[in-house]
Amino acid sequence: MRTALHADWIIGFENGDHVLHRDADIVYEDDRILHVGRRWQGETDRRIELGAALISPGFIDLDALADIDHALLDSWADPTLRDGHQWSEDYFNTPRRDVFTPEERRFIRTYAMAQLALHGVTTLMPIASEVHSSWAETFEDAVGIAEAASHLGLRSYAGPSFRSGVNVVRSTGRRDVLWDHERGREGLADARRFLDHAADSANPLVHGALLPCRIETMSLDLMSATAQLARAYDVPVRIHCMQGTGELELLRQWYDATPLQLLERTGLLECRLFVPHALFGSDAENGRRPTDQELGKLADADVTVVHCPLTSLRYGTALRSFDRYRAAGVNVALGTDSYPPDLIKGMDVGGNIAKLVEGRLDAGGAADYFRSATLNAAGALGRDDLGRLMPGAQADLVVLDLSDFRLGVVDDPLRSLLMSGSARDVRMTVVAGRTVADQGTLPGLDLVAMKAEAQELFDRMRSAYTERDLHRRTPNRLFPPTFRMAGEA
Ligand SMILES: [Zn+2]
Repeated sequence: MRTALHADWIIGFENGDHVLHRDADIVYEDDRILHVGRRWQGETDRRIELGAALISPGFIDLDALADIDHALLDSWADPTLRDGHQWSEDYFNTPRRDVFTPEERRFIRTYAMAQLALHGVTTLMPIASEVHSSWAETFEDAVGIAEAASHLGLRSYAGPSFRSGVNVVRSTGRRDVLWDHERGREGLADARRFLDHAADSANPLVHGALLPCRIETMSLDLMSATAQLARAYDVPVRIHCMQGTGELELLRQWYDATPLQLLERTGLLECRLFVPHALFGSDAENGRRPTDQELGKLADADVTVVHCPLTSLRYGTALRSFDRYRAAGVNVALGTDSYPPDLIKGMDVGGNIAKLVEGRLDAGGAADYFRSATLNAAGALGRDDLGRLMPGAQADLVVLDLSDFRLGVVDDPLRSLLMSGSARDVRMTVVAGRTVADQGTLPGLDLVAMKAEAQELFDRMRSAYTERDLHRRTPNRLFPPTFRMAGEA
């Protein structure tokens, strides 16, 4: 099946970088791109005239939300409320439970993957909150995510999250980590099992990766074993670290070391390493941003920083700065991390934060952010056939609508989208030549019914915070509405 799409704008790829084509065609056959540029004269099985639209490489989300959401509940709370978002020491010591059944978890994966497809994400590395589980993820969870993704047609680099410790609030109110090393070893065994499963599946959309939880919940032994496994299987490893000052303090207290020193000590720095956030380091003079030396070390080790601008901002933090990391030679890719999985908004917010942090209007440029969402991520995954629209590359693309009256006028199409658009302007998502989302719909999915079911599960998830809270507060006390409910005292 050979398809030609024609649009006012296409972001192609020539001589090592993206280029803009005006009034152009893209032609693909099966999963491969045949042609990008002037009107195709050869045969096609179908031709779609898209008019006022931009055809872009599909977005690569390396911290892609694989559950319903939590930022809606926890990105605005004061410290006493925030204590209620963690497990209490009591909860850790009582028989814990999964809030959702395996069947509900499968639904949640499909719901999350549908969101990603509709927001123009074509390749993903999943992330989900473990707070609702009795520990972390299992082999079955990872299979569920990869199957939900590939069933919808998305490309995933998946694996179960695993950890040997969990962040808790002690009875005294102090933040700490409590350990269960046996669960950590089981998690790693599940992760290995998934790597074998992914390799055996021979599904070109499913790839294995090692996705341990945050660094402060990993024992040094488990980190070393993860590094060994990653090297043996030659797969990427992603570990959240340099994420907050609480993490830095715990690691200093336990090991007298920085996160970066521990990555080095455990061999993780020698792996194909992805570090979401990487916001904090040792520069005490500058609010504990990473020092030049630390950025140099990340660059020398070819670490990919997974920058999640929207999530960082919503939790009151920022990369200091996007341009500074890049100038130091750090490969910066993008993630969404929490709802909404909107990389158009992410690029816009990130660019504006960079201006603020650097004090210059030309910081955080749209071209650099766009490369982060495409080429930088593809390079880190070792995929020179992703993140670019050129003959021979995978037909992974999104069509962004430029016709909406509210988008205003177009000068440069990408700047117009960043300024006035969002990922809701995604009209069509194609992965490996298959149309996975079209005009806001996904073949075979009833989005109205899914939205209702997600709301029900979200309400249950919200209620379940009470049993884990140190003070057993009711959901309405833990998550008070913006205004008093009318009619209540
Ligand atoms: Zn994250």
